[in-house]
Formats: sequence, C-alpha cells, structure tokens
Amino acid sequence: MRLGEVRVRSGRGKMEGGSVTIVLDERRRGTKFVELPVKSIINSPESTRMDFWSLNPYVGCEFGCSYCYARYAHRYVVERARDNGRITERECADLGSPSGLEPFEHRIFIKEREAVLAALGRDLPRIRRRTMRDGPQSIIIGSATDPYQPAERQYQVTRAVLARLRGERGFRIGVITKSPLVTRDITLLRDLARRHWVSVYISLVSMDIRVIKLFEARSPMPHARLRALGQLVRGGVRAGLIVAPILPGITDTLQQIEALMRAARDAGAKFIAPIPLRLYPDVRRRFLPIVEQHFPRLARRYRAAYDRTWDAPEKYAAAVKRRFRRVAERYGIQDDAEQEQPATRAMNRAAQLNMFDGWPGNVARGKARC
Ligand code: SF4
Repeated sequence: MRLGEVRVRSGRGKMEGGSVTIVLDERRRGTKFVELPVKSIINSPESTRMDFWSLNPYVGCEFGCSYCYARYAHRYVVERARDNGRITERECADLGSPSGLEPFEHRIFIKEREAVLAALGRDLPRIRRRTMRDGPQSIIIGSATDPYQPAERQYQVTRAVLARLRGERGFRIGVITKSPLVTRDITLLRDLARRHWVSVYISLVSMDIRVIKLFEARSPMPHARLRALGQLVRGGVRAGLIVAPILPGITDTLQQIEALMRAARDAGAKFIAPIPLRLYPDVRRRFLPIVEQHFPRLARRYRAAYDRTWDAPEKYAAAVKRRFRRVAERYGIQDDAEQEQPATRAMNRAAQLNMFDGWPGNVARGKARC
C-alpha cells in the first residue's frame, strides 16, 4: 500500500477498492509492504534533540524485537494518515491492528526510493553547510528501525542512500543493524569510507540463543551477525558491536558479558557500544509479559524500576557500562564512546533515577569484579 498519495495502484496491479494506498508486496506469512511517500528523509538534531542527524528508510521491522522503541512511530504514521484522510478507516484497521499480529512487525512502510533520493538532495546542502561551519556532522542510518531488515533485500532503499552519500564528503556515518544483509554492501561501505568516517554497528545483546529467541522473535542468530561483523572488518570496514539494550538481570552478568566479548574479539570487532534498556510505554506492553513468564523473579523489579521512567537509572547505567568496558579491555576491544562516536553518545543518554540498586547482578553497587 502507499500512504498519502493520490495515484492508486497496487504492486501487483490490483486496485484496492478506491483506497489511496499501494501494496508493494504481501507475503504468505501475512506481512504487507506499503509504499510511503516522503518529503524529507533526514531528521535534524534539533527535531530529535539528539546530537546527530538520523535517517530511517523503513517504518516498522519484521525482526520484531520485544524491546524495540520504534513501535510508536509506526502507530503515528498510520494515525496521521487516517487523520489527514489519506487512508480509510478500514485501511487504518488493517495497517494499525491486524488481528493477532503486531502491525509494527507485519505492516512495513517502505519509503519510496525516488522520493528519498530527491529528499536527500534537499536535505544534504544543510548538512554540508553545518559541516563547514561546525565540523564533521554525524548521520546515523538505522537510529529507529533496522536499515537491513528483510525488506531491504527487495527494495534497496538503504543501498540507494549509501550510494547517494558517496557524492558527499567529510561526514561521520554510522549504520546500525542486526542483519547479515549489510555484507551485500561491503564494497559500497568501503568506498564511502574513503570520503567519510564510516562505522557499522552490528547489534547483538547476548550469545545466549534462548535470550535471543525470547526477546527478538525473528532476528538473525548471533553467529550470523558475528560472521557478518567479521566479513565487514576483513573487507576494510570499521565495524563493532552495539550491545543495545542491556537487559538488567538477564544479560548483564559477568558470564554473559564474557561470552559476548570473547565472540566479538574472535569476530574481529573494532569496538563495543553498550547501551542500557529503555522501556517506553508502547514497549512495556510487549516486553514485560516475556519477563513475567520467563524471568518471574525479575518481573516485579522491572515494573517498579520502570514505573516512573523509561530510562535506566544513571547509577546502574554507569556501572554496567564500566563492567562492559573492563571485560572488553581484557579482550582487546575498545569502547566506542572513547572515540566519541555519535550513535553511542546519543543512545547512552540514560537514566536519572537510582532504581536499579540491588539488581541481581549488583552492578549498580559495584560489587561485580570484572
Ligand atoms: S531489529 Fe531494531 S528496528 Fe528491528 S525490531 Fe529489532 S530493535 Fe526494532
């Protein structure tokens, strides 16, 4: 489907009852890919209150991680289209709440490639000017949704964006993904690194397959992500691990961190970027039942800790990052934040309240030896 567009067509040449949406594709397992026209593609630091520019080719993500904070954006896109009269109530119901399925995971909005490139043409001069004035600007691709999620294999919006950025120079570009599909673009990323400071953040929270299956319903397995990381590094691309989110009491134990850092070192990771869990209201609904079912002894603490905040407490965040840093150092891996990398800096904005004192790992109290 296509949102907010006057033309009416279907990816399969089928009219949809007078709707203004275009179905690009529909899979047997129920996922629909919907074309999304755009006027602007890069979010400015002023609009997001982050200290980087950000770009997300897709809204929604089939990987379906239970802790994903981008769910709200999907709902916003659908509701805004309905409120503006661009889609019917029936379409809104389909895009916003298909029965039994999470729309964020099964209704994927694809930003129209040509419109994205046109928008880039309008947005980039501003970033160029800012670079001239203030120094290298940071652009994060995949700050909200995975730019190499399954849709990218077919629609290649991320690839088109990277190719366009080859025409620029002097930016700091970060790409965040869980998907081995990123290796498809190694040559492109290496070319880009001749003109910009480029880093690829492979996202992995744990080597524990059970944890991955519980919290990241359809994401690639750890070994596939680490293999991709190794391929990137050997291909001449700066790549490392972003450990986001760290799940208190679940993935912050010394044993878990050791296993992850060992695997990262073996894959050739150039850095790690640990980021504690944020629990926004939309995420709680999806995430907390999993904790309740599989980690019942932690459930009450999670509910209490995130009752009045969505950020991890500052003290816990600082302590757990210290723990990661110490273990990483032992494995010869540098903390990305030490190089002042934008993705790490921004996503590390955590926590004001001190609610995690006394978590099972005792990280916040500094009792862990690592
Ligand atoms: S891979 Fe990233 S964008 Fe996709 S569901 Fe997981 S956290 Fe969200």
